[in-house]
Amino acid sequence: MFTVDAHLDLSMNAMEWNRDLRVPAAELNARERARGLVDKPDRGNAVVSFPDLRRGSIGLVVATQIARYVAPDNPLPGWSSPEQAWSQTQAQAEWYRTMEEAGEMVQIVDRDGLDAHVSRWLAALAAGNDTSRLPIGYILSLEGADSLITPRHVERAYGYGLRAVGPAHYGPGRYAHGTDASAPLNTAGQELLAEMDRLGMILDATHLCDAAFWESLKIFSGPVWASHNNCRAIVDHNRQFSDEMIKALVDRGSVIGGALDAWMMVPGWIRGTSTPKAMHCGLEVMIDHLDHICQIAGNADHIGIGSDLDGAFGREQAPHDLETIADLARVPSLLAKRGYSPTDIEKVMHGNWLRFLRSAWA
Ligand SMILES: [Zn+2]
Repeated sequence: MFTVDAHLDLSMNAMEWNRDLRVPAAELNARERARGLVDKPDRGNAVVSFPDLRRGSIGLVVATQIARYVAPDNPLPGWSSPEQAWSQTQAQAEWYRTMEEAGEMVQIVDRDGLDAHVSRWLAALAAGNDTSRLPIGYILSLEGADSLITPRHVERAYGYGLRAVGPAHYGPGRYAHGTDASAPLNTAGQELLAEMDRLGMILDATHLCDAAFWESLKIFSGPVWASHNNCRAIVDHNRQFSDEMIKALVDRGSVIGGALDAWMMVPGWIRGTSTPKAMHCGLEVMIDHLDHICQIAGNADHIGIGSDLDGAFGREQAPHDLETIADLARVPSLLAKRGYSPTDIEKVMHGNWLRFLRSAWA
């Protein structure tokens, strides 16, 4: 079934992990193991590549630019100045453009482009045609806004196709505080949201700390989604949404993408120690989170997939029954097992994200 994944860090993997995503994940892993690489936590465990996306009929993704600024006293990894972070995101944008020239990807920036791209994939899948040569559509999103040197830079980014921004990531941010930090928006953050409103951009509520989340919903008037977020009721952590936050997003017409990072799926995960198998973290656990949102919403209109499967982790921290991202193709049968109707399953796999985008870009 045609599938949308609303959160992948493709360009980060290409530019910082030095992965040529035209190569299947199994081969990327063999190369990394042969080189004995240990510089990243997920070396030899990649699950995402273009061939694997196509095998899973994942023809449309929300793909990020990501580069954090860190002050001298901030222990998180990141760049020493906003200017360096900006330049890193420009290299990432250039990689996406280069992949377009290579026929691997196509950037989606408006409703016409979206409809044309989706029709192409749906027609190929309906006819049983080979999709291994179809380009993967991508909507460009910025995860953490630190790299925007000023709020005005978001207009420049809009110019090369940026359509969604999550102002925060981990820790204290230049515009908003994110996971494991806490503060209301600062003036720059408020200005950024005003610029995004003016440009008609999508706000990604993922990673916003609670204070910034509630303030953002109040002052931002445009479309809001949460590209990759699970539920606090199941795994209690500030990175996850409380039921009240989910309710507010549902009322706002949002779609929330279920994430496949094991520590966000099952309680008690210890990084670097726990294993997906021992923690009983299978793909089905994602359905628990999605279903929790559906119970709050009273329907299946506000959930989708935002896997994050290349977000600085791989098989060591992903569902044990997932070898590559192509295994998302098993999600429809897991939903059916839980009693989801064929119509609702289509909504989860692509319909809800498409409805959201068509309305955001009307
Ligand atoms: Zn993230």
